[in-house]
Amino acid sequence: MIPGWLRQKIAGKCHAEPCPRCRAVLLVGDSEGWPAKVDPVALDVGQQILARLAGLNLHHVEHRDGRLELFPRTAWRVADPTLDTLPVVADHRCGNRWQGADLLNPTTRHHPLPDRCPF
Ligand SMILES: [Zn+2]
Repeated sequence: MIPGWLRQKIAGKCHAEPCPRCRAVLLVGDSEGWPAKVDPVALDVGQQILARLAGLNLHHVEHRDGRLELFPRTAWRVADPTLDTLPVVADHRCGNRWQGADLLNPTTRHHPLPDRCPF
């Protein structure tokens, strides 16, 4: 368990920035102290598997205090059901184009599935 004060220090604040090579808009910052450049697209489970097979790291994205923060999707976070509603993104690799909700566009931002069947 990470103490709150330490979590605040290492929280992965990020911002939008274009990739210097391909000009794609990325989320750039750190993910618990590690530098990260990710595509701001929420991935489904199949896309997450493809990203891992391609050697890309996965991260959770969380809105906190009006800003986006990145956290690595570690084994214990995969097993934590309270994080299932957070979007998962992958490291950026030039040329990759993920289909999914753009986290930088509020009209397509990821919305968690309802707890109950909607019909
Ligand atoms: Zn790029």
